[in-house]
Amino acid sequence: MPGTIIVAGIPGVGKTTVLQELENVAREKNVPLKIINFGNVMNDLFKKRGTTIHRDHMRKQDIDLQSRIQQQAARIISRTPGKSALVVDTHMFIKTTDGIWPGTPRKVLEALDPSMIILIEADPEEVARRRASDSTRYREGGGIEEAKADLAWSRYMASANAVLAGVPIQIVQNRDGQQRQTAIDLLDVIQKRS
Ligand code: ATP
Ligand code: AMP
Ligand code: MG
Repeated sequence: MPGTIIVAGIPGVGKTTVLQELENVAREKNVPLKIINFGNVMNDLFKKRGTTIHRDHMRKQDIDLQSRIQQQAARIISRTPGKSALVVDTHMFIKTTDGIWPGTPRKVLEALDPSMIILIEADPEEVARRRASDSTRYREGGGIEEAKADLAWSRYMASANAVLAGVPIQIVQNRDGQQRQTAIDLLDVIQKRS
């Protein structure tokens, strides 16, 4: 039975870019795969309740509201039909105005019921550059030190998740200009597990 795979990483590391490549690579190799962006599902839920906001403004909203929408999003994702493996593009933590907040607290983790957690990582210098040069997004933390700290937080949160869910963690490097190779590496890791 193919499972759900959480693909997480710090803002600007390249998750969505790599997962777009993964879609291509999986198609070329005839591997059935479905990719869902957790932030998109949350943004749609915000819209449905009359709050149309940029994806980078959701994390500034009231934390209790974010929490309710986060849980709702997890339930919707968990009901995704189909027989293929499900890849969820998300975060191990979110920087809210109340502090660092888990992207997959217990209830969310239980709803998603992942078979593994994959962290996409990159050199902090590269992450800082990617954040600075991507004008389509409003990402905080432009410096190298902030990227380093974020990478550490992502691993701390992943370890808590792995303990709760009893699942393995894999780390895949997204090197500069190598998004296709990263997607190939990712597919390799996914196929071994699902
Ligand atoms: P967020 O969590 O904020 O959604 P993300 O991890 O999904 O961020 P992307 O939006 O995929 O990050 O990428 C951020 C920027 O980095 C984009 O401008 C993208 O083109 C660039 N990028 C991604 N991967 C690479 C790579 N391997 N080499 C060079 N640039 C990259
Ligand atoms: P992204 O495009 O992946 O950066 O997602 C956009 C926004 O969606 C993030 O900045 C968060 O506000 C929200 N988001 C994504 N994943 C989660 C999650 N697991 N829990 C809470 N919020 C999330
Ligand atoms: Mg993204």
